[in-house]
Amino acid sequence: MIFNFLKNKGKNPRVRFAPSPTGPFHVGGARTALFNYLFAKKNGGEFVLRIEDTDAERSDKRFEKDIVDGLNWLGIKSDEFCRQSERTDIYEKYLKKIISGREAFWCHHTREELAEEKTRQMENKEPPRHVCEHKNEKENKTGGIIRLKGSDKKIKFHDLIRGDIEFDLSLLGDIAIAKDERTPLYNFAVVVDDNEMGITHVIRGEDHISNTPKQMIIQKALGIESPLYAHIPMILGTDRSKLSKRHGATSVNEYQRLGYLADAFINFMVMLGWNPGDEKEIMDKEEITKKFSLEKIQKGGAVFNIEKLNWFNKEYVKKMPAAELAKTAAEFMPEEVKEKIKENFAYWEKIMEMEKTRITVFSEVKENTGYFFVNPSFPKSLLVWEDDKPETAKEHVNKIIESLSSLKSADFSKESVKGAIWAYAEEKGRGSVLWPFRVALTGLAKSPDPFGIAEILGKDETLSRLNHAKLILHG
Ligand code: GLU
Repeated sequence: MIFNFLKNKGKNPRVRFAPSPTGPFHVGGARTALFNYLFAKKNGGEFVLRIEDTDAERSDKRFEKDIVDGLNWLGIKSDEFCRQSERTDIYEKYLKKIISGREAFWCHHTREELAEEKTRQMENKEPPRHVCEHKNEKENKTGGIIRLKGSDKKIKFHDLIRGDIEFDLSLLGDIAIAKDERTPLYNFAVVVDDNEMGITHVIRGEDHISNTPKQMIIQKALGIESPLYAHIPMILGTDRSKLSKRHGATSVNEYQRLGYLADAFINFMVMLGWNPGDEKEIMDKEEITKKFSLEKIQKGGAVFNIEKLNWFNKEYVKKMPAAELAKTAAEFMPEEVKEKIKENFAYWEKIMEMEKTRITVFSEVKENTGYFFVNPSFPKSLLVWEDDKPETAKEHVNKIIESLSSLKSADFSKESVKGAIWAYAEEKGRGSVLWPFRVALTGLAKSPDPFGIAEILGKDETLSRLNHAKLILHG
């Protein structure tokens, strides 16, 4: 069978991302959207966002919003937006045409008859399909569902990623294309829309390969040109099975909530099945766009490795300018802390400067910096280093209070705090001295060293916390 492919392949491509809003925005969908977007931007083309909501029962406005919000977060902007549910008249026009041209027909078989046929075919190990005798009726009455007249030929198409793919059409039978003239099924609506919207390249998940021959025979029947196809590899979990909830978060908004940076997430996602052909990994959107090409997309599945995503995020956090980092991190703090940050942004910037290299995702910041805004509470036992006795911790805390009291408030820097204590800590054992000091300031078993923290808290607050620890140790 000969297919008529679009001639304007190279110039000004138009691509689309066509999600069905039947669940939260999945990372697989986000990567498909990204590849389409990059291809359009690279080639001076356009990117259409088409919500495929013809299945009224499964589609939900909430999920549409989730998809749109996710794309906005990632900065994947569409040039056009449409919803299939608002295009019924267009589908009807095409369906009428294909029926009157006798390329399609009404099939009157009941659900039960079709189910029986399917069971029989499965038992005989035949491919399930329906070859309908109603297509030959002289008077093909309205009613039932609409099917396309099948073929027993073979078709071949050239996938831009996977190469030539051949398909035996006899395996399909007479495929269903609509429930009625105003209710098209997925493959029909896609074909009509891709045509109406002038889509030149269909870039989508490999799970749609089996739909491609169906869409191509619909195009042929309608006398319209086929776009070019590029099927991108699936995203797999670390065990190489299809990525699912079992492997961790799969929805884009969860990653946003956890505090990944959109640019880091984009950089990570683009490497899922694509690489620039060199060793470089950290690339901003501009560089990625410049380097992007469909030829460099791999055929095999791409493993979603959270460690790798974390690495990307850490790298992007490290590169952030101080003020931007502080602003971003503030968004992840509780409301009452946000207020305090607003009142003293310089204080918050200092905290974040210190925390910077420890951040993997921004949702962690809350736990790690809470002590800067409220006095920490902790049990007496936490103040005591390893096998030390509480008396030893008390002795060290007293000594630290004494040494720090002699420093001037204006000279309460990291270096001078360290200078005031260091010799004593070396003499008595660093862990033994610095542990209670750190716990007195933070209430945490893990935090940066106490000198930097003391500098940020300032002399008064540092001493007040040490005195509080002393009281606890007395009790
Ligand atoms: N609506 C389909 C989906 O969500 C995608 C259709 C297409 O890309 O052709 O899987």
